[in-house]
Amino acid sequence: MKKIYQVIVIGAGHAGCEASLVCAKIGLKTLIITLNVDSIARMACNPAVGGIAKGQMVREIDAMGGEIGHITDCSGLQFKMLNSSKGPAVWSPRAQCDKELYSVLMSKSIQNQQNLDILQSEVIALVVKNKKICGVKILTGEIINTSIVIVTTGTFLRGTIHLGKASFDGGRFNEKQASYLSKSLTEDCGLILERFKTTTTARINSISADYSKMIESTGDETPDPFSHFTDVKKWRKNLRQLPCWITHTNVMTHKIVSDNLELSSIYIGEVGSKSPRYCPSIEEKIERYPQKISHRIFIEPEGYNTNEIYLNGLYTGLPFNIQQQMINSINGLENAKIIRYGYAIEYDYSNPLQIKNTLETKNIENLFLGGQINGTTGYEEAASQGFVAGVNACLKILKKDPLILRRDESYIGVLIDDITTKGVDEPYRMFTSRAECRLSIRNDNADLRLMSIGRSIGLISDVVFKKFELYKKTLVNIYKNNITDMPSNDELSPWSVEKAMEEINIYKKYEGYIEIQSKMTNKIKKNENKKIPKDFDYNKLESISTETKQRLSKVHPQTIGQASRIHAIKPSDIAILMIYIEKQKKIK
Ligand SMILES: Cc1cc2nc3c(=O)[nH]c(=O)nc-3n(C[C@H](O)[C@H](O)[C@H](O)COP(=O)(O)OP(=O)(O)OC[C@H]3O[C@@H](n4cnc5c(N)ncnc54)[C@H](O)[C@@H]3O)c2cc1C
Repeated sequence: MKKIYQVIVIGAGHAGCEASLVCAKIGLKTLIITLNVDSIARMACNPAVGGIAKGQMVREIDAMGGEIGHITDCSGLQFKMLNSSKGPAVWSPRAQCDKELYSVLMSKSIQNQQNLDILQSEVIALVVKNKKICGVKILTGEIINTSIVIVTTGTFLRGTIHLGKASFDGGRFNEKQASYLSKSLTEDCGLILERFKTTTTARINSISADYSKMIESTGDETPDPFSHFTDVKKWRKNLRQLPCWITHTNVMTHKIVSDNLELSSIYIGEVGSKSPRYCPSIEEKIERYPQKISHRIFIEPEGYNTNEIYLNGLYTGLPFNIQQQMINSINGLENAKIIRYGYAIEYDYSNPLQIKNTLETKNIENLFLGGQINGTTGYEEAASQGFVAGVNACLKILKKDPLILRRDESYIGVLIDDITTKGVDEPYRMFTSRAECRLSIRNDNADLRLMSIGRSIGLISDVVFKKFELYKKTLVNIYKNNITDMPSNDELSPWSVEKAMEEINIYKKYEGYIEIQSKMTNKIKKNENKKIPKDFDYNKLESISTETKQRLSKVHPQTIGQASRIHAIKPSDIAILMIYIEKQKKIK
């Protein structure tokens, strides 16, 4: 195969799809290579998009012209604004999706995209000359030339599946692992690879669940789509939402788990391979919180045309017979029949300290990494990196300045800054608390923050951008109370006058706080060299997690700057620390 591509994307998961679409949309000759074309954008865990902080990232990708928001709108079966009882700064959209439909629609987008070819194969090595990428080698031995490679291999690199004490090779259940590429990444590219682990839950047959014993959890009455470009009225009219359900584990469930802990695959695998602390397995939850007699389980449908349901909160690596017993001990699931067992998977990732904030590797020119391979977890985190890697690959070829999103303008900026400056020592997922400017980087204003960037990259059309400009003008007029001569909703669509009013109301609510927030972040920057008293007792800090106190106490940083660079220490923690130091000084 001699054809020369400008970009080759390895992997068609959530990162690879965004990366390849961006490159092709911008006009570069792009090839996406994946192990299995039937599993493009497969949702290996919960088929849900968005959620706290993650929903904001989906809106950001969408505002810049990415795909995830649009596909979610077309495949969602329940939409909810999380945190809606709190302030708009933390409102986070979430959608439960039809898993098959999501994958089919993303495949179609890829197949229909001009400049984008798809190939089902395994990339076994990268071809590198003088520390620069020049091609990839596939399983058949052929070499395909290219200027840039974006690696988005998810959980597939030397993936090992564990179910109880049984272990076998696999990138996901029933999918083969990528056996060879790790060797090339280490030997040809000089990357150091480490191991992480994650788990998923069993799927059960819906008709075997007794919903009369559970609490119904319905979607929003007037749901909001993810994509800024979705025609809201039409979309709401056609949307058929399905209910989710809530039940709880109990003392019996916990006993079954505790009695069989040593059989769980959570505790086997390579020494030191860590799982996501924020998506713990039921084994880990019961071990960590022995005083808790019950944990909430969300029962969520996986599609319109399947009976399979997902048990959110019941991730496990227990042997299958114990999984069955555990599930049957739960209210409403006494007769539940398992269709697929839960399992744990262990895989290679590359510590993101080895990449720049453009997502290009420091060691090899034109090699970009995006998604789970960078030690993150989650579809949204993967899609965000895929999008940015794709954009930066294009900008590099076009000899333009790279896209570096700032922390104060996007969650995506926070994510990339965090992982590339602090690295990861456990799978990284996004939270609102990671963003010091969360009052201003809300889900409602992702378009105002980022659409011009999408436009400058070439991903937002003239027609849409003209309407967006009119929307911005309308916002200014409403803010200044100059509401004569308003445009019609037809002129503004997909934006509207009502949306503009709402936006201004939210802005006014936060105006003052945002000013304080920006003063605080400037103060943190200024206080980089500010000394922390030697004997400072971190246990005194209120509103800070025990884990943060432990991390700070262990390192005993000498300055604020040093404290802020400790892994998993958030800017909000630093703000609290500074207040305490000031307070202590005053008392003294
Ligand atoms: C068991 C399990 C449990 C999970 N649990 C959670 C969870 O609790 N919370 C959460 O947020 N996320 C969870 N996830 C993670 C979530 O699925 C990923 O974060 C997300 O899919 C990562 O996207 P990605 O694009 O980086 O990789 P993936 O979606 O994994 O896609 C990787 C792609 O690369 C392809 N590929 C790999 N190697 C090669 C090669 N050498 N040649 C060609 N193609 C290749 C594969 O075929 C695939 O298309 C879980 C995943 C698994 C498997």
